[in-house]
Amino acid sequence: MSKEELNCSFCGRAKPETQLLIAGLDAHICDKCIVQAHGIVQEETTETTSVFKADIELHPPKKLKAFLDEYVIGQEPAKKVLSVAVYNHYKRISQASQKNDVEIQKSNILLVGQTGTGKTLLAQTISRFLNVPLAIVDATVLTEAGYVGEDVESILTRLLQAADYDVERAQNGIVFIDEIDKIARKGDNPSITRDVSGEGVQQALLKLLEGTIVNVPPKGGRKHPDQKFIEVDTSNILFIAGGAFDGINRSINKRLNLQAIGYNTSKESKKVDTENILQYVTPKDIRSFGLIPEIIGRLPVLTYMSPLDKKTLSSILIVPKNALVKQYVRLFEMDGIKLSFTQGALDFIVEKALDYNLGARGLRSLCEGILSDAMFELPESEVKELKITKAYAEEKIGKVIHPALKVVS
Ligand code: ADP
Repeated sequence: MSKEELNCSFCGRAKPETQLLIAGLDAHICDKCIVQAHGIVQEETTETTSVFKADIELHPPKKLKAFLDEYVIGQEPAKKVLSVAVYNHYKRISQASQKNDVEIQKSNILLVGQTGTGKTLLAQTISRFLNVPLAIVDATVLTEAGYVGEDVESILTRLLQAADYDVERAQNGIVFIDEIDKIARKGDNPSITRDVSGEGVQQALLKLLEGTIVNVPPKGGRKHPDQKFIEVDTSNILFIAGGAFDGINRSINKRLNLQAIGYNTSKESKKVDTENILQYVTPKDIRSFGLIPEIIGRLPVLTYMSPLDKKTLSSILIVPKNALVKQYVRLFEMDGIKLSFTQGALDFIVEKALDYNLGARGLRSLCEGILSDAMFELPESEVKELKITKAYAEEKIGKVIHPALKVVS
């Protein structure tokens, strides 16, 4: 074969049409294809590992807090504490590769607050900001190995799924464990009322929280006995646990009163904000509630969510980037209908939500109740505008019987 007859094995260009033709074992590649192939290699590798590494660049706490502010109304102390914890968490990861004699411990987080106050929302917003996978798991379904229910490893199966089975992404992800209070040991005295299943799950969680290598069944469960396990290192996974800890107020109150009697007496006790007792929560209260000290130690960042008052609930309806009202306006807009709410209607929804005591979850259920007839009837009608007044809302809610107002998350 003469030189002139040589072709690029990729694009077929003849040698004279190229600037350079490199010979391999039994193929050739031209300069243009090299450039293109290089582009592909770059794209592929950035999509997997390297971009991800760049993605978890350190974001200062104020930046994360500002992002949280766009989605989560109120909850200032929790947002601040979380922003710092997340910052420290990723600082810890970034220093792990460097030689250093100071080992930074994990800053897993424990969020205490009533249902519907935004605990899950905070975890979701953080994972969105960091662009890391998030698994939301319910502690109540977890059991000790060998019992009916899910092993704690299933948490990692969820995380792997959220990361599209990209192990490295999963290993830098976030796990939100909801209802951690439900696996509390019943009663303060372990020797008398030992709740084996609750404590057993807590024990099983310990290693995961601290950092260990776990063999994870990729499809979860025990139904697929021959599936190959995937090794997942949990050292860099950020765990956020949340729970309502119903009744913990009593323990906090008791402690606060005792302190008041002991030392600074009346002056101190007057300062206690009785509307929001959770703000005084300490690891000791969590321990009295029934979480074992080892778990508490592995969730060193403790913060609280305030109950949502009227003003906050009103803001939640309209202010956040994806506020409920904005979502419904958008839904109606897609059918060419202009939806609006009067202030009276908004106030009515908030008051009803307060009655139901479901935090912001009540808002969603109420809006569904009010708008579901319209969402059913209007798409094929001539109606181009819908104004929700207090009277309209009252009428629709009046029609909805209690059970329909169930929790919608
Ligand atoms: P929790 O996990 O505390 O039970 P969620 O985070 O699931 O509560 O909240 C339920 C819904 O209520 C969320 O999807 C969100 O729309 C809304 N919500 C709750 N708290 C807030 C808040 N502080 N700011 C904005 N929306 C909120």
